[in-house]
Amino acid sequence: MFNNLKILHHQGKQFIPDVTKAEAAGIFRGRPVISKASVNTETLTELCPTSAITTNPVSIDLGRCTFCGECAIQFPEKIRFTKDYKLSSNTRNQLIIEEGIEQPITLDADKIRKEIRRLFHHSLKLRQISAGGDNSCEWELNAVGNVNFDIGRFGIEFVASPRHADGIVITGPITQSMAKPLELCYKAVPDPKIIILAGVDAISGGIFEESHALDRSFLVQYPIDLYVPGNPVHPLTFINGIIQLIGLES
Ligand code: SF4
Repeated sequence: MFNNLKILHHQGKQFIPDVTKAEAAGIFRGRPVISKASVNTETLTELCPTSAITTNPVSIDLGRCTFCGECAIQFPEKIRFTKDYKLSSNTRNQLIIEEGIEQPITLDADKIRKEIRRLFHHSLKLRQISAGGDNSCEWELNAVGNVNFDIGRFGIEFVASPRHADGIVITGPITQSMAKPLELCYKAVPDPKIIILAGVDAISGGIFEESHALDRSFLVQYPIDLYVPGNPVHPLTFINGIIQLIGLES
């Protein structure tokens, strides 16, 4: 008994009471802030492995950023990463952070389909599809249901069958071999249904963007309801994105 208490004391409190106000631990890199400092923009853009940085104005596309941190290391006067993990949005443009802008990333409430909040506000079942993923985002999505994050408290859970799901969560850059299974799985989900892209690979292809082994045509055919940036996605980013989507946090 005494040993058990010592272990509990050593591990601390694991459960996060409020996932909307928790502090991300460790070296987590969240929403970047770009100053208006003058730097060599050619060098800055060239060092980015995924061409996430563009100029005029200098901006970072979180749908392409791998959060490697190299830009902030080489140009600390220009770029710094905050610990703000609320990175999700339902519009692709909101993921592009421009210099001089420090506002949080939000969802555009007007663009959320009406049936999403009406039907999924209290209960949302998701089927996860790894479409060529490297198991990093999949690993983190597995963590959202653990004792720390406990996404089940919001009535959200992952299910095994698309027939029991209200939507899909796609991870990975969508390889050719997964393009058809992805579509089959999506079609097996009853209407109305949602699509969530989790991680940079799913959102833009990430470092695999130029690969001929990808087939991302699925994303052109169907509307995306939520983009969750990260490499991999942080559980707090995922949970906050979804609870905003279904209207549990404004
Ligand atoms: S942190 Fe993002 S924007 Fe900066 S160099 Fe890495 S991938 Fe590019």
